Amino acid sequence: MAERITGHTELIGLMAYPIRHSSSPAMHNEAFATLGLDYAYLAFEVDNSTLEDAVKGLRALKMVGSNVSMPNKTVVGQYLDELSPAAKMAGAVNTIVNDNGKLIGHITDGIGYMQSLKDNDIDVIGKKMTIAGAGGAATAIEIQAALDGVKEMSIFNIKDKFWANAEETVKKIRENTDCIVNLYDLDDKDKLREEIADSYLFAQATGVGMKPLEGQTVVPDETYFRPDLIVTDTVYAPRETETLRLAKKAGCKTMNGLGMMLFQGDAAFHLWTGKHMPIDHMKEVLD
Ligand code: NAD
Repeated sequence: MAERITGHTELIGLMAYPIRHSSSPAMHNEAFATLGLDYAYLAFEVDNSTLEDAVKGLRALKMVGSNVSMPNKTVVGQYLDELSPAAKMAGAVNTIVNDNGKLIGHITDGIGYMQSLKDNDIDVIGKKMTIAGAGGAATAIEIQAALDGVKEMSIFNIKDKFWANAEETVKKIRENTDCIVNLYDLDDKDKLREEIADSYLFAQATGVGMKPLEGQTVVPDETYFRPDLIVTDTVYAPRETETLRLAKKAGCKTMNGLGMMLFQGDAAFHLWTGKHMPIDHMKEVLD
């Protein structure tokens, strides 16, 4: 520690609450150490009541930047100087970059998902995808996929408190991109079957499949899938959700949420340091 942290070491933060369980500090500090970069990444317990002061502190301390997680992602934008196009569209920020005193907000979750597809040799650009979800993870993916050039997207969600958010996402995608996007009720399983049938990829991006909904799936059975369909899940604990288990049973290529987690971190890391994480090494550490 005495050798690692010096008077030159620069600070990157993570502002969220609760946050002690996060794997981000270990991930970033391992990457700094492996690449010999003189930064330290620390988690700070910050909620909405202390967020404004925390951002002022980031500015005053000339920190390189910070990650932002729940409950601050949709709140922090008002304290920043500028937002990336995706952060503006998603109405959420997970990464702050301090560009010589100008604080810029980015959202890297969607970038992370799209990069994890590439990493698995999956190319959804110019094709149709069906996605379940309207929360933070799903919205970031939907916006980034549309910005990156997915041709058509069918979004499904249950009619809960996230439905209005899904409507807003559809509106923003239509206003800002050429992607053909439609929203459907996830309880309409006939429509779900129909939309998956001519999609290249199905993305599970709700909280279903993870505690307290572990063992559950938004797709009733494997007949909704076919062998040449790609099925992804944002959940990474467990590594294989019920959705992915059904997809494997149907012979599909599958991808869990671990890659999205790694590459959203890598995208933030790149914004702060100009370098990419040692991806293969990080995969070994995270697995
Ligand atoms: P969120 O709370 O913002 O959204 C929850 C979503 O789940 C909404 O779409 C909601 O309608 C849906 N939902 C909840 N209960 C449901 C039910 N019973 N049936 C159908 N749909 C239901 O959560 P989030 O931040 O978007 O996270 C969603 C999942 O993605 C979580 O499992 C989370 O762990 C995962 N995630 C992964 C990454 C990653 O990097 N891999 C990043 C963020 C989130």
